[in-house]
Amino acid sequence: MKCRVCGKEANIRLSAYNTALCADDFLTFFERRVTRAVQKYHLIDQTDSTLVAVSGGKDSLSLWYILNRAGYLSDGIYIDLGIDEYSRVSFEKARLMADRLGRRIYRFSLPALFQKGIGDLSKVMRRAPCSLCGVLKRYLMNKACIDAGYTVLATGHNLDDEASALFGNLLYWKEAYLYKKSISLEGRGDYLAKKIKPFFLCSEREAAAYAILSRIDYVYEECPYSVGAKTLLYKELLNKIEVTSPATKIRFVKGYLERVKEQEARPDPERCARCGYPSYTETCNVCRLVERFGTGEAIRIECFEPAQATATPDISAKADAVV
Ligand SMILES: [Zn+2]
Ligand SMILES: [Zn+2]
Repeated sequence: MKCRVCGKEANIRLSAYNTALCADDFLTFFERRVTRAVQKYHLIDQTDSTLVAVSGGKDSLSLWYILNRAGYLSDGIYIDLGIDEYSRVSFEKARLMADRLGRRIYRFSLPALFQKGIGDLSKVMRRAPCSLCGVLKRYLMNKACIDAGYTVLATGHNLDDEASALFGNLLYWKEAYLYKKSISLEGRGDYLAKKIKPFFLCSEREAAAYAILSRIDYVYEECPYSVGAKTLLYKELLNKIEVTSPATKIRFVKGYLERVKEQEARPDPERCARCGYPSYTETCNVCRLVERFGTGEAIRIECFEPAQATATPDISAKADAVV
């Protein structure tokens, strides 16, 4: 198996594109795909300032790294869910990357506000940890973005995440969610940041290969609460289809992107009467949660400056190497 670009021994086979690449050419290929998506779908404008949602996993750390290499200078936000060792190690990896990039990282700590991690909090609320985590993360990341003056929130959701979510929403005809998962969602004034997913068309396997080849130190374990999640089953099923019919996932998700464009503009979300952030009810979920279980402290987001500023090489010079 030879690299399609340079003819040397290939390191990775990419069946979805019917190609194989060596390590160097794969890195260029992957970075180029991401920067092209940013340009093609107008994810980040010149006037934007970007905050990356960083979990310590391969996707978010690779995304943070690539955006900075491509000149989209961005800082990170980490949500500490209070999952013991997993959260501690995850934040450590996030900080390592912050230092490598010479960028700032913000942290919000759930135990600091509730004296409980996501596990205990979900028990007292009788709610599944993943759905509670989703509500809190969406709120806190948006708040961090707005409060600290960023205009765009970037997340590391990849092709496999999107394909499996889409598959699940179709399977159960969850139409209310169906058209809310595009590659970018516009922001609203001073209370809702624009959300983007630059890895929308990049597979999990590609993101993992990129992280390893770029020597990105990330958490290998999945979140302990994700075990048994339906999305993992959908990912497995889609990967089985992909083996016999390469490029099915990317066609599925690209077809979705084309259809989502045809949807009407969404109405402005209502605002929570207390905090002013988006809410479907008069008082938002998080305000109610803080009222019931909070320690009385205000929601505080810490900011960590990088240990040292490391110059990150620019990728623009390399970007034209792939034919
Ligand atoms: Zn090559
Ligand atoms: Zn609120």
